[in-house]
Amino acid sequence: RFISLEGGEGVGKSTQAQMLAETLRGRGLDVLLTREPGGTPGAEAIRALLLDTQFDWDASAEALLFAAARSDHVANTIAPALDRGEWVVCDRFIDSSRAYQAGGDDLSDDAILSLHTIGSMALMPDVTFLLHADGDDIAARLAQRDSDGSDRIGGKPADYHARVAQRFRDLAGSDPERFVLIDANGPPDAVHERIVRALASMLGE
Ligand code: C5P
Repeated sequence: RFISLEGGEGVGKSTQAQMLAETLRGRGLDVLLTREPGGTPGAEAIRALLLDTQFDWDASAEALLFAAARSDHVANTIAPALDRGEWVVCDRFIDSSRAYQAGGDDLSDDAILSLHTIGSMALMPDVTFLLHADGDDIAARLAQRDSDGSDRIGGKPADYHARVAQRFRDLAGSDPERFVLIDANGPPDAVHERIVRALASMLGE
């Protein structure tokens, strides 16, 4: 099974991905916890390039770098794990490119999907949790976050993030079989509980 977590900055995806992986491991499952951009040495190196402010990547260069990172990640980490029968929990995947590079940056969604076909075998998650939280919770989480330079929210105008959020909602609306909207307000344990319950019902448990 391949599970992705999606959503804007500060919504708690990384924490929830870790908690979900732990819970699944507690049930005796083999779980690979990974993230995008990243998840292989090569893709982590591309992540560092993307986040390095000395480079002023334009939107299409950025889309190609995200696609290249994903391609390496799928080929060397995700697909082999799925082949071994493991569960994969991934913090961001293709929907982030559709929301940020197409929704936020205005590249065509078809172009993003073509890159996904070329680079990543058009692999899609089985289940995608789209986390959404109110502005206050997000501001508090961003203020608490250790700054490892991975946050590019300061570099983008508010309307960019509004377009990204809208595109995430549109994607979820267009594929209700795969997406589950998760209310990410409140303490991490409560959000985790919502995810576990939603996963059980998605899997017909
Ligand atoms: O998930 P995380 O916050 O670590 O992502 C790192 C940065 O890359 C974020 O600022 C996010 O907005 C950005 N990003 C992006 N397009 C993607 C994936 C992530 O702009 N496809």
